Amino acid sequence: QELISKLENTIENIADFPIPGIQFKDISPIFLDPQLYEEVIEDLVAFSKGKIDAVCGIESRGYLFGIAIAVALQVPFILIRKKGKLPPPLVSEKYDLEYGSAEIETRKGQIKKGQRILIHDDLLATGGTTEAAAKLVKKQGAKVVQFSFLIGLKDLKGEERLKRFNAEIYHTLE
Ligand code: 5GP
Repeated sequence: QELISKLENTIENIADFPIPGIQFKDISPIFLDPQLYEEVIEDLVAFSKGKIDAVCGIESRGYLFGIAIAVALQVPFILIRKKGKLPPPLVSEKYDLEYGSAEIETRKGQIKKGQRILIHDDLLATGGTTEAAAKLVKKQGAKVVQFSFLIGLKDLKGEERLKRFNAEIYHTLE
């Protein structure tokens, strides 16, 4: 598919960043090409059209595409942020990292009971962040019906970790 090869030629693979042994995918060149960006949004919008009541985007690269998906579908966009950035009242979820733990938060009341939610992030790796986001959404009485990513890394088993939420999973690129 044309979009996939364009993205493969645009996203930069950086060896040993941020730590040795990690191959980092830098998506920032996509934003130098507004037409390509628009095609990515169309692809992600097509997946979610008619199926969701709100989009939750994960800080910070999840906002870059998530907000455009929400505007295109004319549904609310909710920011999921790392601890300490949003003012109270908040709903929080702690999760484990390789070393230590982290916490994500949303403003209380922005996610409504019964809403069908898309959780969006730029990249799925181990699925740890997205799993915590899904728990955060569920404990506010909403339903996670979809996950979408620009990139889904296959070898890190993120998708397996998300299976138990019984939601659709989509990524534009592997
Ligand atoms: P996970 O929790 O699935 O292991 O990691 C996913 C999170 O880490 C996402 O929020 C994503 O933005 C970030 N991330 C991990 N590796 C990369 C990468 O190679 N490129 C980019 N752009 N983000 C990454």
